[in-house]
Amino acid sequence: MKRPRNTKEWILRKFYVGLTIDEERFRDLVTKSSRCKIALIYPNSYSVAIANLGYNRVFEIFTNSGIYVERFVVEKEHLPIFSIDEGRRLDEFRIWAFSVHFELDLLNVATLLRVYNIPLRPEERSGYHPLLICGGALTYFMGKALTGIFDAVYCGDFEVGAEQFIATLKERERKEEILDGLSEVPGISTFGRNARALPVIFYGEDMFAESMFVSKKGAFGRRFLLEVGRGCKRRCKFCVAGHTMGKARFMDVNEVKRRLSRVKNRTRSVGLISATITDHPQLEELMKYLDEEEFDVSVSSMRLDGLTHRLLKVLAKTQKTFTIAPEGGTQKIRNRLGKGITEKHIVEAFKLGHDVGFKNIKLYFIYGVPGEAEEDLKGIVDLVKEARKFFGKVHVSVNPLIPKPGTPFEGTKMMDRKELRERERYLKAGLRSSGVKVDFESVSDAVKQYELCNANRESIVHMLAERSANTIIHM
Ligand code: SF4
Repeated sequence: MKRPRNTKEWILRKFYVGLTIDEERFRDLVTKSSRCKIALIYPNSYSVAIANLGYNRVFEIFTNSGIYVERFVVEKEHLPIFSIDEGRRLDEFRIWAFSVHFELDLLNVATLLRVYNIPLRPEERSGYHPLLICGGALTYFMGKALTGIFDAVYCGDFEVGAEQFIATLKERERKEEILDGLSEVPGISTFGRNARALPVIFYGEDMFAESMFVSKKGAFGRRFLLEVGRGCKRRCKFCVAGHTMGKARFMDVNEVKRRLSRVKNRTRSVGLISATITDHPQLEELMKYLDEEEFDVSVSSMRLDGLTHRLLKVLAKTQKTFTIAPEGGTQKIRNRLGKGITEKHIVEAFKLGHDVGFKNIKLYFIYGVPGEAEEDLKGIVDLVKEARKFFGKVHVSVNPLIPKPGTPFEGTKMMDRKELRERERYLKAGLRSSGVKVDFESVSDAVKQYELCNANRESIVHMLAERSANTIIHM
């Protein structure tokens, strides 16, 4: 192991290793020994990384295949970085695998490359630079643009091409040889080989992730996360999950039982992750099991038109807040967003949530939709007032529409900042009321996301060179 070079690096090393000490629990014992060593980098904080099932899943696949993996995260003002496992320097590794799930995390990737004096463009890097690989949620709709930065981009579900991918890494030594091999793996775009071809996305069947490690410092604390569904059949027009992540597939309830029975002696706190749990074909049986086994359950997302009494009963046992996403304040906007719900569904959801005992509600809305008028913004205010009749506290999250590639809004121009800020002011004034808390996504961050996700292979490099700061951004 290379030693830190100076006092500052010793301090940083201690900081990164300290993120896991005493707080982190692994699902299984992990054996680490292999000729092939990979730095698995999540370009955001430890708290977010540990709660990301994609990151957990790749770690699981690599370690089960006998690859030596060390995890790296990037914390604000803590550069250069050291692994959180053994405190190794990042530049000890010749393969850097990035798990990138949010557009703004690309700014952190660019910052990291700058810190290590690594050119952003693959064509400006040599055999002495590490091999930079990218996977993660962004690859489902930004695969081609990402080849402007990374040497290889794995587009889609990693499980599908993992075996061939890993065999290539294990069998080959030199960077160029590895890239030659990777260019044969389905779903991979590699610089200088097949980067100009459209990325191919594959969808794994019955391949689901679960927490490999949990920690009190994670975004969901020690909650064990289990992916019970991938993809979504609903196709809301603004949503990449509905349009780019393949057909909806769900974990069979018997498999859920099998997986939870392995961990139930260690934790009863479970987070079910899926695009929308309410579309699970065995939802009632699943909830019955979780209820009888007395799990403390949370879910990542539910359709408000698919709520059931039993689902909410199970959730209300341990949660005070009921979360739904009407998205639009009027039917016109909900239709433009392709949400497929009506005001009746929303009010019925309020009643149901209230009747099963939730005290508070969290509502998600989108504004800045093409054709949106004042009455549509007023519709958001009116729905929040309606919600307040049923719940003690209403938490509202309001986010500008970000037209994303791969969705029906691809090619639509995002509303400009000035207009968005005016609408934000209107909503803030209308929503100011006791018992209502409102969060607005930063307009400037939303515009950055829009520009990054719609960039091409050339423009993304310019954007990252101009906009990445010398500090790390945490969402
Ligand atoms: S239901 Fe949710 S996950 Fe599915 S397409 Fe609509 S917004 Fe996306």
